[in-house]
Amino acid sequence: MEDCLFCKIAAGEIPSKKAYEDDEVLAFYDIAPQAPVHVLVIPKKHVSDVYAARGESDAFLAGLLRTAAKVAGELGLAESGFRLVSNCGADARQSVPHLHVHILGGKQLGDRMD
Ligand code: AMP
Repeated sequence: MEDCLFCKIAAGEIPSKKAYEDDEVLAFYDIAPQAPVHVLVIPKKHVSDVYAARGESDAFLAGLLRTAAKVAGELGLAESGFRLVSNCGADARQSVPHLHVHILGGKQLGDRMD
């Protein structure tokens, strides 16, 4: 999608530090990390958020989640644990309107999620 930051990252038009890539999904390090490990997992196809993704196939959504888990493992977080977050809309403070899952880990995270 034109003028979408993460579409441009997926297309290689804006550089990113890649953690994983396949035909459908890209994972890259967050530019402003909020944990020792903070990686974003995005579908290459433009979908604005997880609510919009209800119109996508089960395979699309399952593939994104499965890839997030796989990348978390590759980042060494399987034993220690990690958090997956997908902000949706204004109240959740979603700042980039392209579906993404945050992988957060590398320390014991806060007990609150708000
Ligand atoms: P959210 O607030 O859930 O929409 O998350 C968007 C995330 O994208 C934030 O954690 C930002 O730090 C991150 N971000 C914004 N621009 C870039 C970029 N160019 N490269 C990597 N991460 C980015």
